[in-house]
Amino acid sequence: MKVQHNVVLAQYTSLHVGGPAENLVQASGAELQSVLASSAKPYWIFGDGTNCLISDKGLPGTVVLNRGGTIQVVEPTVLKVDSGVSWDQLVQKAIELGLYGLEFSSGVPGNVGAAVAGNIAAYGHRVSDRLLGATILDTKTGTVTSWDNAAFNFDYRSSSLQSPEHQHCVVLDATFELSASPTSQLEYDSALTVAEDLGILPDTLENRRAIILEVRKRAGSLMNDKSVGPWTAGSFFKNPVINESQVDAILSKEEHGVTKEQLLRQNKIHSGNSVRVSSAHVLLAAGFKRGQTWGNVRLHKDHILKVENIGNATAQEIYDVIQVIVRTVKDKLDITLEPEVRFLGDFND
Ligand SMILES: Cc1cc2nc3c(=O)[nH]c(=O)nc-3n(C[C@H](O)[C@H](O)[C@H](O)COP(=O)(O)OP(=O)(O)OC[C@H]3O[C@@H](n4cnc5c(N)ncnc54)[C@H](O)[C@@H]3O)c2cc1C
Repeated sequence: MKVQHNVVLAQYTSLHVGGPAENLVQASGAELQSVLASSAKPYWIFGDGTNCLISDKGLPGTVVLNRGGTIQVVEPTVLKVDSGVSWDQLVQKAIELGLYGLEFSSGVPGNVGAAVAGNIAAYGHRVSDRLLGATILDTKTGTVTSWDNAAFNFDYRSSSLQSPEHQHCVVLDATFELSASPTSQLEYDSALTVAEDLGILPDTLENRRAIILEVRKRAGSLMNDKSVGPWTAGSFFKNPVINESQVDAILSKEEHGVTKEQLLRQNKIHSGNSVRVSSAHVLLAAGFKRGQTWGNVRLHKDHILKVENIGNATAQEIYDVIQVIVRTVKDKLDITLEPEVRFLGDFND
């Protein structure tokens, strides 16, 4: 195991910020468990660093970069994959095998472990729809257990692995059950428009992947080369669940840019009077603008939810902008915005 010391973490994250790791190691597959057991504590597990904001003060203990591993076909429609494999590599493998179920999440950055922990989702696919179970290491006790899908308590962009009770648990590998025939249709307007532009039908796995990759390209949602800015972590905020009076508060502002019908059509009715609305509309209604800039931090010129580091932003500067946004949205619309990006290390409030 090669341990590096005082390694600046900015280079390992898509936001391109973050101070030094006291110790840094890389591990995948079977060695992950022993590396975690023998590393100086506390440990911090990272996949591809595309969904975290790391403090400028750095991280004490050991950062474990969980990268690499293998994909096994355990049954004709069942794949078992190490947590350090990139999500898109898994999607491509499924497509190559003629298996449906993951193709609409083509091009989502990051690794399998974080995808499971955060229940990533794109164009109607959620990890939780296809996950049979996973092998979980409890780093406190050193025990390894098998969790079935229900044990994760999956919800929108969350799982019980993110709860304080399980934050010392790590995904070692995950098993997915896929299907030899289509499991769902492509229903998103933006994707159907792209299909028309490309002159292809969303009826084969390859066409579906081509359509989704083009939609993501147009939405600025493909991962750039990490050494080239501007840098982002994708959509910074989760879409909030709000009640009817909060819907009305959004619509009472001129800046939201949508009709009530559009707002509600895009949103999934969850239960009673609660709806999950796009946090992009929430930000617009609260008066934030596309392209709005604070020093080296900017809201993307087209996709307001992408908070960008456009130069040499510090993690604290990004953190401060996030606090301004969260506070303003609360004051103006009484909506609590929750970041999707994970904050690691210490920040000044
Ligand atoms: C351009 C762009 C587009 C994006 N589009 C989407 C999208 O369409 N849909 C979507 O849902 N997300 C999207 N994201 C967010 C991101 O891709 C996902 O959150 C992804 O799962 C992060 O993976 P990662 O390996 O980079 O995680 P990291 O940033 O390395 O880690 C994120 C969190 O997961 C934890 N973690 C990592 N590995 C493990 C493990 N083995 N066991 C337990 N916990 C672990 C980390 O400790 C950390 O708390 C996008 C991000 C970017 C930059």
